[in-house]
Amino acid sequence: MEAVQAVRGMNDILPEQVGWWQGIESAAREVLENFGYREMRTPVAEKLELFARGIGESTDIVEKEMYAFQDRNGDWLALRPEATASIVRSYVQHKLHADSGHCKFYQIGPMFRHERPQKGRYRQFHQIDAEVFGLDGPMIDAEMMHMLDVLLERIGISGVTLNINSLGCAKCRQVYREALKSFLVEKGDGFCGDCMRRRETNPLRVFDCKVQRCGELLESAPRLIDYICDDCRAHFDAVKDGLEKLGTRYAVNPRIVRGLDYYMRTTFEVITDRLGSQNAIGGGGRYDGLVRDLGGPDVPAVGFAMGMERLVLLLEQEKGRPVRLPRCFFASLGEKAGQSAFLLAQQFRGQGIETEIDYEGRSLKSQMRRADKSGARYVLILGEDELARREIQLRDMLTKTQRIVPLENILETLLAVDSEK
Ligand code: ATP
Ligand code: MG
Repeated sequence: MEAVQAVRGMNDILPEQVGWWQGIESAAREVLENFGYREMRTPVAEKLELFARGIGESTDIVEKEMYAFQDRNGDWLALRPEATASIVRSYVQHKLHADSGHCKFYQIGPMFRHERPQKGRYRQFHQIDAEVFGLDGPMIDAEMMHMLDVLLERIGISGVTLNINSLGCAKCRQVYREALKSFLVEKGDGFCGDCMRRRETNPLRVFDCKVQRCGELLESAPRLIDYICDDCRAHFDAVKDGLEKLGTRYAVNPRIVRGLDYYMRTTFEVITDRLGSQNAIGGGGRYDGLVRDLGGPDVPAVGFAMGMERLVLLLEQEKGRPVRLPRCFFASLGEKAGQSAFLLAQQFRGQGIETEIDYEGRSLKSQMRRADKSGARYVLILGEDELARREIQLRDMLTKTQRIVPLENILETLLAVDSEK
């Protein structure tokens, strides 16, 4: 019978890769909590309307990539394509703004976008997402980018570039939109069909276009950064100053517009040159009007999302395979010795030592082969003779040395030997 396969673009994370994921998740929790962020977990499905309103009707995500469906009641739902809209919804719904001046949240979990699957781009992927509500000053923008830097270093990823830009406020954007529109009209129909359409609906979105020709034409387009008002410029200058004081390196890139409508003022992307065209590891920015637009109070907000698959790809490239190795492996010969080894292994585990054991009473040779393959540092060998003498052999697989230890002392001996290394 033919076996059922997973959905295209939705991947299993197998035990041999899961070490990367656990490492990234624990680094993220540690760093984010240190910076005062608290975890929030929202549902993977929301009302479709939330994303249409929150992300913007004429964005790629909402127009082309959403997993939207009607449930059995006929209600329109969608699998979340990103976390910000959900976190804002939750923040407003539970009136978390009433608690204190500002709130910091983070969320780690799967997101869904119906894109063409390829390396670094999937239909179910995972993000680490962080959001701050209630602060409009430039300090938090700078601190957030600095935190990203700290996080990447803690995860073990180097050689990335932080690109920043300012999108100005609604006021500056109004002026800029007109300038961009005239430019697009002037260039005529050199652009792809999508961009021609965007020219009318949402001109700024042309910068999301991945068609090469459009990219080339846009090289000479007016730059938003040249159109921002004095307040927005002062904010941007202060963000840059903050980054410099924090020792976080950055490059100003006037081409960053980000794929979502809600951004304003500070926007940023973290880029690598080691993943081909899927070069964005993460990005974010300020979105002061969104909470209000989603029915909440008028509080400013800033946030980012980082793609975990791309982090894993980078770690794999840099460091090979993650292996979570057992510390000890028990090999035994004979039924009685097998039972003693089984009980000892439980004691070891109870002491927090990762321990594997042969359950099947196979030949010593095949057990030693398995022990070797498991990558365990220590192999403990218990035969009937050793058992009769109340002894056990302790083999260090790294130094290839072996010694005989009284059975009663094995746990202390192992802990002592292991702590010397
Ligand atoms: P891209 O330009 O690569 O499509 P994006 O601007 O759509 O990225 P965001 O919405 O900003 O991405 O999401 C933040 C991060 O999430 C990205 O930088 C990327 O690392 C990751 N990401 C986004 N879409 C996918 C996907 N389909 N598969 C894997 N990771 C993704
Ligand atoms: Mg995208």
